[in-house]
Amino acid sequence: MARTKTVKKITKKTIMCVKCGMITDSYEKQFPKTNSSLYAGYEGYLPICKTCLNKLYSEYLDIYQDHFTVLRRICQLFDIYYNESLAKSLMNSDMRTIPTRYISKLNLNPHIGKTYHDTILEEEKAKKVQEITEQSLRQQENREDTEIDTEEIDETVEKQLSEARKIFGSITNENDALFLKNEYDDWKFRTGAKSKAEEEIIKNICYNSLSLKKARESGSSTKAIEETLLNNIKAGGWQPKTEENGDEMSVGQWIQTIEMERPISEVQDRYKDVDNLKKMIDVFYLGHLGKATGIRNIYIPEYEETMKKYSVIKNESGEDEQDDVITRLFGE
Ligand SMILES: [Zn+2]
Repeated sequence: MARTKTVKKITKKTIMCVKCGMITDSYEKQFPKTNSSLYAGYEGYLPICKTCLNKLYSEYLDIYQDHFTVLRRICQLFDIYYNESLAKSLMNSDMRTIPTRYISKLNLNPHIGKTYHDTILEEEKAKKVQEITEQSLRQQENREDTEIDTEEIDETVEKQLSEARKIFGSITNENDALFLKNEYDDWKFRTGAKSKAEEEIIKNICYNSLSLKKARESGSSTKAIEETLLNNIKAGGWQPKTEENGDEMSVGQWIQTIEMERPISEVQDRYKDVDNLKKMIDVFYLGHLGKATGIRNIYIPEYEETMKKYSVIKNESGEDEQDDVITRLFGE
């Protein structure tokens, strides 16, 4: 019986670039290697040839106008690990070979085996770290503010009380003492009173004001107190005239004028950002964190500016030579 002999013809592999359609029989020379398991059927090579991948860089640069965005876009497309520091190291390289150079660097430690999935995980992690850091910083700032405020208020109150007692003698009620001291300072400042006699009149005015305040709070008659107050003001020679007709103002009018014109004091110098603590944290913590993880954040430019002062810059041509050595040892 005649046997039909099936002849199995061994054909050469046919490999085609998905972009330009170039056909070859071996991946090795013309296709970039990849870490992604997506391309396992392509023997661990990308389905786009090196020439096309490199051309993509300038095509995308026309669109995005930014080296980092372009590299990230290419990495997203082909499931390649994206790392900001790595991208930065190629910023000044020949534009025609940036993507393949980038992939060569990925095939070295510590990036072997990483894909774009690792980029996503790393970025999420860095974002969380930053959020937690900012949150704890805010909490710390709030705590410090509260501590300082409480301490300072205590100190100021003690000082005011002791001064009030010097002027008005021992006053058991602290609120009354503070009210009197406040009124006394205000009257002295506004009248410019210097003589002992004027100071005595001001003291009486302060007592009158305190009585007036208490009478108002308890709902009792204030007429007699107002008259005494007005007399004391007159005795000091400080009775103001109204603008319209030069008549003397009533106490009520005068008080209203004072309250309306009371100036708001300036922020004290010692509260104006003196310790630069925020800058230190921005630069050496958040900036450094962003730099180390390869995640760009707003603190990096300031970090780089600061670190420049302490850095030794390597010669550019030296880096190219080093790349060539790596290429010779490990291939593109
Ligand atoms: Zn191609």
